[in-house]
Amino acid sequence: MISENIDSVLNRIRRAEKQFNRSKEAVKLLAVSKKCSIEQIIAAHEAGLQDYGESYLQEAQVKITALAKYPLTWHFIGPVQSNKTKDISACFDWVHSIDRLKIAQRLNEQRPAGLNPLNVCIQVNVSNERTKSGVLLEALPDLVAAVSQLSALRLRGLMTIPAPSTDFDAQRIPYRKLYEAFQALRDAGYNLDTLSMGMSKDLEAAIAEGATMVRIGSMLFGERAR
Ligand SMILES: *Cc1c(COP(=O)(O)O)cnc(C)c1O
Repeated sequence: MISENIDSVLNRIRRAEKQFNRSKEAVKLLAVSKKCSIEQIIAAHEAGLQDYGESYLQEAQVKITALAKYPLTWHFIGPVQSNKTKDISACFDWVHSIDRLKIAQRLNEQRPAGLNPLNVCIQVNVSNERTKSGVLLEALPDLVAAVSQLSALRLRGLMTIPAPSTDFDAQRIPYRKLYEAFQALRDAGYNLDTLSMGMSKDLEAAIAEGATMVRIGSMLFGERAR
């Protein structure tokens, strides 16, 4: 069951890469395992997936501990609260959701010695909705400059969660904006390689606009209980 879902998601990714002139395997699949069981993650791992995204620290800590013997890469993709940075910095390989300097500084200070630098993406609010998390585009260059100085972090790129839309052309707009910001930063000399964008319902639009990592939950593991 999970392996069939993985096949169909990978087929969608590979088809979109081809359709939108991306290189083969330019796009990595991040399995969003929030609200999934440990057994489901083991099944997905046996079917070939290595990267898992979690949004809730306590739930993730239980899974990371239980699955410590598996060679999995853990990505924190939820909002980061100040009082959670110590545990997040100790447990995870990646954080996709940095949206202010204070959080980045805390993760940097609290990254345990002996671990590789924490891979981070800056979450950008491209559609300017006041309720959404993410740094606004106009504040992005300053945040990138500051985060790139933190030696226990490795700034990999940008992430966004756009307002949902069912229209393909509308889905592409925020992703194109994030891509343009990403390219501008690369042109300015930042060595960024990750555009974390695209979910179950809009991964083609994200791949069309340059995603390098799509974050897929419900298409792999089924709809989550609310
Ligand atoms: C839950 C979640 C996803 C996965 O969404 P699906 O629609 O289930 O694929 C992706 N990114 C983030 C940040 C999420 O919280």
